[in-house]
Amino acid sequence: MARHTWTSLFTVRSSSSDSTYEVKRDPKTGAYGCSCKGWKFQKKSMFERECKHTRVAREAIEALESKEEKRMKAALSALERMGARDSVAA
Ligand SMILES: [Zn+2]
Repeated sequence: MARHTWTSLFTVRSSSSDSTYEVKRDPKTGAYGCSCKGWKFQKKSMFERECKHTRVAREAIEALESKEEKRMKAALSALERMGARDSVAA
């Protein structure tokens, strides 16, 4: 099995409980991971799993790379709505 070296991106608040989830990325493969149940319990390989948190993370990173202001703003407000916090700063 391929080894993952996850880099933590940020934490998000759960919309249904007090939990926080950690959203992370493997810089080698570009795969996204999350500590929520929605991601963990998918019967797919780690490279194919997605949850609403990893989708927002992916969009945010793609928006940054695109350097399109409108897209970046939309991605930032999506992160804000999820209560995303930089895991390093937190
Ligand atoms: Zn998730």
